[in-house]
Amino acid sequence: MKITRLTTYTVPPRWLFLKIETDEGIVGWGEPIVEGRAESVAAAVAELGDYLVGKDPRLVEDHWSVLYRAGFYRGGPIHMSALAGIDQALWDIKGKALGVPVHALLGGQVRERIRVYSWIGGDRPADTAHAAQEVVARGFTAVKMNGTEELQFVDSYAKIDAAVANVAAVREAVGPDIGIGVDFHGRVHKPMAKILAKALEPYRLMFIEEPVLSENAEALRDIREHTSIPIALGERLYSRWDFKRVLHDGFVDIIQPDPSHSGGITETRKIAAMAEAYDVAVALHCPLGPIALAANLQLDAVSYNAFIQEQSLGIHYNESNDILDYLARPEVFAYRDGYVDIPQGPGLGIEINEEYVIERAKAGHRWRNPVWRHADGSVAEW
Ligand SMILES: [Mg+2]
Repeated sequence: MKITRLTTYTVPPRWLFLKIETDEGIVGWGEPIVEGRAESVAAAVAELGDYLVGKDPRLVEDHWSVLYRAGFYRGGPIHMSALAGIDQALWDIKGKALGVPVHALLGGQVRERIRVYSWIGGDRPADTAHAAQEVVARGFTAVKMNGTEELQFVDSYAKIDAAVANVAAVREAVGPDIGIGVDFHGRVHKPMAKILAKALEPYRLMFIEEPVLSENAEALRDIREHTSIPIALGERLYSRWDFKRVLHDGFVDIIQPDPSHSGGITETRKIAAMAEAYDVAVALHCPLGPIALAANLQLDAVSYNAFIQEQSLGIHYNESNDILDYLARPEVFAYRDGYVDIPQGPGLGIEINEEYVIERAKAGHRWRNPVWRHADGSVAEW
């Protein structure tokens, strides 16, 4: 079997899909995307694709190694996301060629389903308590929300109070047993992060996420002295080598690699295994499309330390299209009792509605994250 062509489709709301074709008619799909950089990743896929055309798609590990190591310069969001989508598509082809799901090729599933959480509120958390009640009524047992609006390096206690009041309202609304993740979104800097983390302690959170930016992870040593809430991060780390330092430092409790950013199924599997050796849990990051979610579920199936899965159904970004729109059989992602079943179809376990992908690619998108500014006019972390 030989790879004949790689085609990318820029589709709303903010995604990039990759189709890899073979001379035997088997087609694999991947989702190589960094949100806001779709065209850059598509260009990287095209560059990496030059090597792949004419090669046997089933040599997934070797292709990963070549596309990572043989380019001299490596790593970072663009390269690793391009590699991620290619890797997902190659696994999809391999599973379809053998008539088995990807997880069967990775040792077989260790669980039948995985708990999922739903986003509540938008970029600026407001009316989150009502939104939390709605998703709990739909069967979710866990939610995630943004913790704060923009915060200066040193900001007011009024903003801390507002953030805490918001979390308190959600806890009050859903009761003691619903998991609540609070995403600081890298908006909080070290001086305020320890104040906010400490103030959130009474609300028995499932985790706080990116309490500081991952590049400032040494600050977590300070922050964890002020709270026992599990600390999560990793959506902006891209490889085993990026995760090596945070795992070794021992300040994180949960890692959140994104299998569309961290080198695909091949690399994220290894990152999860590294974390297991540090007794660190995995909650894969996935505010993305259906192909990414399918790849995530293949990893959840085989990663013993995975405990919950992010998914984007109804997320505030999905205005023009949502994850089920591009599937021929959307029931594959039917959530029940707060869980989603591990897909059992061949490859990634989903069927893409290619006609619809082609139609929506004509509309495309130019999604960019907003630019926020502080009261003094300086730019704020979004
Ligand atoms: Mg996040």
